Amino acid sequence: MAFDIDMIKEVYGRVAERVDKAREITGKPLTLAEKILYSHLWDGNPSTAFERGKDYVDFAPDRIACQDATAQMALLQFMHAGKPKVAVPTTVHCDHLIQAKVGAEADLKRANQTSNEVFDFLESVSNKYGIGFWKPGAGIIHQVVLENYAFPGGMMIGTDSHTVNAGGLGMVAIGVGGADAVDVMAGMPWELKFPKLIGVKLTGKLSGWTAPKDVILKVAGILTVKGGTGAIIEYFGEGATSMSCTGKGTICNMGAEVGATTSTFGYDESMDRYLRSTGRADVADAANQVKEHLTADSEVYANPEQYFDQVIEINLSELEPHLNGPFTPDLATPVSKMSEAASKNDWPLKVEYGLIGSCTNSSYEDISRAASLAKQVADKKLKTKSNFTITPGSEQVRYTIERDGFIKTFDKIGATVFANACGPCIGMWDRYGDKGDGQERNTIVHSFNRNFAKRADGNPNTLAFVGSPELVTAIAIAGRLDFNPITDKLINEDGEEVMLDEPRGYELPPEGFAVEDAGYVAPADDGSGVQVVVASTSERLQLLAPFKPWDGKNIMGAKLLIKAFGKCTTDHISMAGPWLRFRGHLDNIANNTLIGAVNAFNQKTNFVKNQITGEYGGVPDVQRAYKAAGIPTIVVGDHNYGEGSSREHAAMQPRHLGVRAVLVKSFARIHETNLKKQGMLALTFDNEADYDKIREDDTFNFVDLESFAPGKSLTIEIVHADGSKENILVNHSYNQGQIEWFKAGSALNLIAAQNA
Ligand code: SF4
Repeated sequence: MAFDIDMIKEVYGRVAERVDKAREITGKPLTLAEKILYSHLWDGNPSTAFERGKDYVDFAPDRIACQDATAQMALLQFMHAGKPKVAVPTTVHCDHLIQAKVGAEADLKRANQTSNEVFDFLESVSNKYGIGFWKPGAGIIHQVVLENYAFPGGMMIGTDSHTVNAGGLGMVAIGVGGADAVDVMAGMPWELKFPKLIGVKLTGKLSGWTAPKDVILKVAGILTVKGGTGAIIEYFGEGATSMSCTGKGTICNMGAEVGATTSTFGYDESMDRYLRSTGRADVADAANQVKEHLTADSEVYANPEQYFDQVIEINLSELEPHLNGPFTPDLATPVSKMSEAASKNDWPLKVEYGLIGSCTNSSYEDISRAASLAKQVADKKLKTKSNFTITPGSEQVRYTIERDGFIKTFDKIGATVFANACGPCIGMWDRYGDKGDGQERNTIVHSFNRNFAKRADGNPNTLAFVGSPELVTAIAIAGRLDFNPITDKLINEDGEEVMLDEPRGYELPPEGFAVEDAGYVAPADDGSGVQVVVASTSERLQLLAPFKPWDGKNIMGAKLLIKAFGKCTTDHISMAGPWLRFRGHLDNIANNTLIGAVNAFNQKTNFVKNQITGEYGGVPDVQRAYKAAGIPTIVVGDHNYGEGSSREHAAMQPRHLGVRAVLVKSFARIHETNLKKQGMLALTFDNEADYDKIREDDTFNFVDLESFAPGKSLTIEIVHADGSKENILVNHSYNQGQIEWFKAGSALNLIAAQNA
């Protein structure tokens, strides 16, 4: 369906030459990650050996995928690029905006009513600009991508952190912010710091109760949530090749939980089988012709310490099933130690819910293995003690598992099947309805990936543990967190002691996948006549107006909006939570601008002085007053300003409200780039101590902005309320191209002007 075999053949057609060249210039054998990176350079054939963890490199990804929550602003921006079509194959997936409550059918119907405006917008923009559209209920972005688009040796980006899931099919797939995706859609390169490389050698073989999920739960325990930062994790060894392709996807998916840039596996027979089973025999045939370039050079895996920055070895034959949590995915507990850990930490033992599925774990293999346990409930005269839910990752999986009788088996243990969507994995779970206050301390187990406080049900007192679907099912049957299915017995309805047999399943459906309506909507061949309609009265969507170009003059008389104290992340600048619903409406979401930032003058949040009136108010209100009066403003911040997510809203909102410059001790890199892209001045103090010179009533005059040039510091005159003045030096990292963005008002304005 809709995958582009010609594009894939083109990638394979050039891979040999580029890999040979990369081997020559680096003077060493190559890992798989390096082969993929070097064969996707924007400039074509490799000519420089890049330093890992240091050099910024321009890449040309093969594909882009966007989910509904992030696609809104990305596509609103793309509409300004002046392009008739996306430059790179792109898909949009409606999965995040569907709340799980009573079951698939009713929940989907409700979502189609409440978010219909957003879905219609995404569908019409997709239709117009040549983007494949997956409608609500079609499935979760990463499962759909694995089933339809991922291919060995490819590179993709996606506006979701679990885009990394496609590493299960041997890709380098990376989560990015919407602004990055827009650049690539518009035909521009995508920049990434050349990653470091972590090798994970898997020896032995999975068996019995242990599943691929346990590999990544173990890795998370070793690396912790930060251990993979800035690195690609590459798995190899007999344990890797003996595992299913979808199992590899699960492992790569949760690489996001250790902060890794992405994770990947070398091409092997499991991928060949998966490609054929999902209707892509031609991709498998093409991959087989270049397979030596779709895995690392043999010397690399023979001497991994020599070629990776870090190597971890795990023997799958000795690996135990794990449960990770609560509140963090790296707190790893083997099942045999859970009883002890739970009593030591006072974790409630009664399990209220077992939830399986999500983009992480809803393969046919996962579901069939979990179903083999559900079947034993009747066979062994047991009763399932916890509530149980299934969230299929795609309509193709759901349809196939229904055809093969698994849904019926789950029905018999009282399971609820939610829509093929994110639901309880992203807090879109109305767990309590009108029952209870949603604050009770309680335990749930799930096969998703993240388990931060409130992530599943909004209750800060829900302790969520992450495990394999088979372990989650066994625990739900037993109803106890400390149940170890390898050793523990259950008492059945006849009062007999019984044990659950080991889970059994199928890597792939013996009768093949099937689906009636996968939920894909192909775009028009010629979308030029398609109208994108956004109601002017909409509170969720707003067409963007281009930001004004720079008038070429020094900015004079700018007022201080806020001097932020300490940590100021993108969450402080543009909060998530309830504000998510406004992600497609810049003016409405701008009402959360900097409301989480701490004002250095009073240590309060969202309480700053309005220099026009002398009164205090919320940051967005005060800023709107300056904007109405035509007064420019600046924001001052501390170290690592803008760390956290790559959401472009954190740069677009201040820009929309009239902030002209952000002056800080240091920036988080992605946010700095986002500011530049949106036509803002991103500046750093030459002398960090100058931060202390900034007073609440200050006015700022840019003395030499008219000669803005790469590598040249700028001078700002600070005028204090008592009339005293002092000049400070500020630095910037704009190159000439980025200065052109500033002049044009934004990077997109420049692209649009070039396309006019
Ligand atoms: Fe993200 Fe969860 Fe949806 Fe996967 S299922 S895309 S992790 S929200």
